[in-house]
Amino acid sequence: MLNTRLEDTDVLIIGSGGAGLRAAIEARRYGVKVTVVDKVVLGMNNSTRYSGGGIKAALPGILSTAYTTQYECPREHFRQAMIHGEYLNDEALVEIMTFEGPARVLELKSLGVDTFDAMYLKVHYPHGSGLMGPLVNTARKMGCTLRPGMVITRILVEGGRVVGAAGVDIYRGRCAAFRSGAVVIATGGAAETFLRNDTTVNTTGDGYTLALDAGASLRDMEIVQFEPYVQAEPGLPMLDRHEAEAEFHGVLRNALGEDFLVKYLPAVKAGQVPFEEQFGMALTDIRERVARAMVTEVAAGRGDQGAVLFDLRHVPAGKWESDFASQYARKVLLRGFDVQKRPVHVLPGAICTLGGIAIDGDCRTDVPGLFAAGEATGGVHGAARLGGDGLLDPIVFGARAGRSAALASNVAPSVSKELVEEARAEVASVLAEGPANLEILGKLRDQVKRTMWEQVGILRTGEAIAAAIPVLDELAERVRATKVRSLRQFKSRLETLNLARVGRVIAGAAQRRMESRGAHFRTDFPQRDDERWMVNQFVRQDGRKLAYTESPIRLRTTELLKQSKFGIEVK
Ligand SMILES: Cc1cc2nc3c(=O)[nH]c(=O)nc-3n(C[C@H](O)[C@H](O)[C@H](O)COP(=O)(O)OP(=O)(O)OC[C@H]3O[C@@H](n4cnc5c(N)ncnc54)[C@H](O)[C@@H]3O)c2cc1C
Repeated sequence: MLNTRLEDTDVLIIGSGGAGLRAAIEARRYGVKVTVVDKVVLGMNNSTRYSGGGIKAALPGILSTAYTTQYECPREHFRQAMIHGEYLNDEALVEIMTFEGPARVLELKSLGVDTFDAMYLKVHYPHGSGLMGPLVNTARKMGCTLRPGMVITRILVEGGRVVGAAGVDIYRGRCAAFRSGAVVIATGGAAETFLRNDTTVNTTGDGYTLALDAGASLRDMEIVQFEPYVQAEPGLPMLDRHEAEAEFHGVLRNALGEDFLVKYLPAVKAGQVPFEEQFGMALTDIRERVARAMVTEVAAGRGDQGAVLFDLRHVPAGKWESDFASQYARKVLLRGFDVQKRPVHVLPGAICTLGGIAIDGDCRTDVPGLFAAGEATGGVHGAARLGGDGLLDPIVFGARAGRSAALASNVAPSVSKELVEEARAEVASVLAEGPANLEILGKLRDQVKRTMWEQVGILRTGEAIAAAIPVLDELAERVRATKVRSLRQFKSRLETLNLARVGRVIAGAAQRRMESRGAHFRTDFPQRDDERWMVNQFVRQDGRKLAYTESPIRLRTTELLKQSKFGIEVK
């Protein structure tokens, strides 16, 4: 018989990436009881850990390394983030991130994070582990309860307020419920929804379905960011090649050997110079344009084995030896493949979802007692994310969510037996003796990811999305009808269902936005249309249906509207 263990905590944090741990540390500073749960090992298998570690804020003359300082002042950072996000971002959230960011970055040192040069350039690989390890240790030392192997399946809501969350404890083989006055969703994004991605398999958008089922709304879900230089070499892992950004001067070529990027991006300088010098912008700031160029070449029949080629043959041998990350890349990521002799195949993969749970500046969602932070949320990056803001966001808003949750936890939540039993019964109803059905689930997962990649991926059309929607709905139904034998298998089933549901949410939003903006590109509507589409899209769960609404964007800083990141005057 499957039973449930009920635990009490003041603040429950779901997810132990940068956002979750930063929230935990902040909440604990208020003296309340904090529990952090993660469906896998704490801090080990998330986007923060596998990130490139680039974190940017305005710290001129205060902290200066290639990886941290870019902006002269917060106002400049704010301006660039808004222009880059093509105004889908919430100005208030961007203001908080850019003006609070410098202090939050500096503060990392006091939380045990190594000096930035050591952290990013030498000691740690993956680079984000230099952030994750110390945050886990600090949270533990401060007395947060850390619970790995805990998959949260639903937010408990009674009387219109959050009273806790329920899930399965896969390490102990039982159901779990938490009674808490405040819950923070810090579950990261949903890049795993796409066949090609360079995140961990855990980015299944669980936080989006948790929020929808609890009655909260999501925003701008059509916006998904794709990383261009992701390995597509048979037998090699789908990880991004950092040499694109570093001083390797790598060149992207099509099957004809052409350096094709110059056709898509006006080059400032010719030849093998760093990306930024050649195109006048950092790769991380125009990655959606590079990704589009790559898939356009392949679609036009100029690809090689369905990908393009990243040529690093000209890199002098000494360069490889002096670069810590490259040594690792050559030994581990390339598994003996010699990039000095042969170009490596690359093709974009999803890296981040930029839409997500709608929050205000204090990380409050629409549901009292429910907070959210990090990649699980929407509104910070708008239609495209600047390099370095992906990590700044979780540490700034993680801290805010932790504070808000601590302050909101001064209630005595009561969780009815019926609610706990309902959550348990939901899990029990899909457990059955018989075949494990893992193969079936694997195939369904693959079909969802393939549908999203091929029909709702980088180059979108209304027709392809319309065809994908019923497929995603049907795949979700087939997952719902699939029984499993154990709680570990239950996790796979839940994740597959979430991928289908989140894919459906993304597809619906992408179908409605009949224009191109930032990372959202419709080949049937290739222009940005400010007359019609200066709106944010919100979505809620309405029974089995999704209810989409629009909200007009009213910019406070209207002078920004006159500017565009590619120098195009906006009419
Ligand atoms: C390869 C890669 C490189 C990147 N490089 C950079 C970079 O250099 N600079 C930059 O600014 N940004 C970068 N980004 C983006 C940035 O790293 C992420 O957006 C950010 O780290 C997200 O942090 P997070 O805490 O919100 O989520 P995550 O770090 O993904 O953490 C989410 C956690 O929630 C847990 N979880 C999920 N669902 C559940 C559930 N149901 N129950 C319990 N736990 C759950 C997961 O297991 C995970 O541990 C990169 C992303 C990737 C994938």
